[in-house]
Amino acid sequence: MAAFCVTVFLVLCCFNFFDRKNRKKMADTIAAIATASGNGSISILRVSGPESIDITAHFFYHSKKQQDSAGQPSDSNLPESEPYLSSDSLVSASTHTIHYGWFGPSPEELIDEVLVLIMRAPRSYTAEDVVEIQCHGGGLAAKKILELLLERGIRLAEPGEFTKRAFLNGRIDMTQAESVMEVIRSKSDLALETAEDHLRGDVRDCVRQMRDVILTDMAYLEAALDDPEHIELTDYPATLTSHLDSLEQKIRSLLKRSENGRMISEGIRTAIVGRPNVGKSSFLNCILREDRAIVTDVPGTTRDTLEEDVRIGSVLLRLIDTAGIRDTSDVVESIGVEKARSEITNADLIICVLDSSEPMTDEDRLLLEKCSDKPCIVLLNKSDLSPQLSLADVQKECAVYDMGKTNILEFSAETGDGLSVLEQLIGELFLQEFCAEPDCHRSKEPVITSLRQKEALRQALDSFDRIRQTMDAGMPEDLLTIDLLGSYEALGRVTGETVEDDLVEKIFHEFCMGK
Ligand code: GDP
Repeated sequence: MAAFCVTVFLVLCCFNFFDRKNRKKMADTIAAIATASGNGSISILRVSGPESIDITAHFFYHSKKQQDSAGQPSDSNLPESEPYLSSDSLVSASTHTIHYGWFGPSPEELIDEVLVLIMRAPRSYTAEDVVEIQCHGGGLAAKKILELLLERGIRLAEPGEFTKRAFLNGRIDMTQAESVMEVIRSKSDLALETAEDHLRGDVRDCVRQMRDVILTDMAYLEAALDDPEHIELTDYPATLTSHLDSLEQKIRSLLKRSENGRMISEGIRTAIVGRPNVGKSSFLNCILREDRAIVTDVPGTTRDTLEEDVRIGSVLLRLIDTAGIRDTSDVVESIGVEKARSEITNADLIICVLDSSEPMTDEDRLLLEKCSDKPCIVLLNKSDLSPQLSLADVQKECAVYDMGKTNILEFSAETGDGLSVLEQLIGELFLQEFCAEPDCHRSKEPVITSLRQKEALRQALDSFDRIRQTMDAGMPEDLLTIDLLGSYEALGRVTGETVEDDLVEKIFHEFCMGK
């Protein structure tokens, strides 16, 4: 037990060094406008730190006519010539209370009518005393209020500094901190739900469970090395191997699902391909419901790729309209054709457009073959014209290339016929991919979307390999402690428990102001 405690203590000491340095910086009080600039109805300022309530109270006035909880004027015996009273009520206010009043340097120079929210440490976003001031929107009132606060010694917050404080104060871990920006940047229901799961701590809990297993193994090993007479190490390699196997399986499945994570957060990369003039740009405009791409009946006009996001149900598609694929001697067009070919390789989904008013050509066949190893939807476009190409013809062709995952639909970009069937199909195709069980809305297991977290998981796998090599080589057991510590540290990088100072700075600098 003693050895276990010593191990835990050493591990915690090793990785808390960055914490102390940042804590010093957190003794100051910071403020920023949290709402986006522009014409909105309200603006919100955030203030966090030890002086946030006192300094806000200094500029806060309430109306003499303001009523108390019993409905009586709170200060009825004061002269009419002093309609606004300096208010100390904020200083003694309970946590999570809202106060109505005016804000300004003096009762004669009030800036704006405000609502002030008081959230006392540790029950606040940063786990420090936090004040949120709601004033009228448009930006100017908020700016003037901010200037007053800064004049009084509060420092302007850096981007992401409120969330950084929440992290450094231990209220959230790094996966939750990163999810704050994921929530803000979400472009689809699925992305938002995944980010909210991260915010609730699904990745943190999963990683902490794995770290606990390693910590227990480390403690056992330390204890056995300290007390070889009473604690046996004969079966330890077998036990450790079985623990590593199970952890490795968990990490590999997290990494596998993280591919879905990319599609969820960045959108499903969808290449629209086909030979010139089959209606690719018309299809893009049809699904976007706006004239985004140039449509002409002159073949070869789309020479570069064009990217647009579209939300279909709960998924996001990143649509890429490519140049028509054909052999061409035009230099500019041929660069576009090359780009289109590489888009097929990079895409998660291909929408292959054929012109059903013409018979199938060799170029169409070649294209179908190229799409054969990817999830692909073939659109028989121009279904409003008299058909020269049937569903059966295309099915026969697809069978030649063994395109098991292909779905073929009759479609008209001109009339929009087939659009709802297509949207339903895309939803089904990808919700299946994201779900573990057929009926679930999406996988219940954590889905990692951050490249940084993925990299840390890969490092954990590398350190597992080193542990196995140490065991296989029959090296002394105390060397295993070093390898185990390496894997513990790698997993700690996911949750931020073992990230270096400069990385912490870098991560939070990508945040927006006031967050
Ligand atoms: P792209 O070169 O493949 O991008 O093809 P475009 O979208 O530029 O379309 C080429 C021509 O086909 C244009 O004249 C479009 O108006 C026409 N077109 C596209 N889709 C349809 C359709 O569903 N029905 C009909 N009748 N014409 C279409």
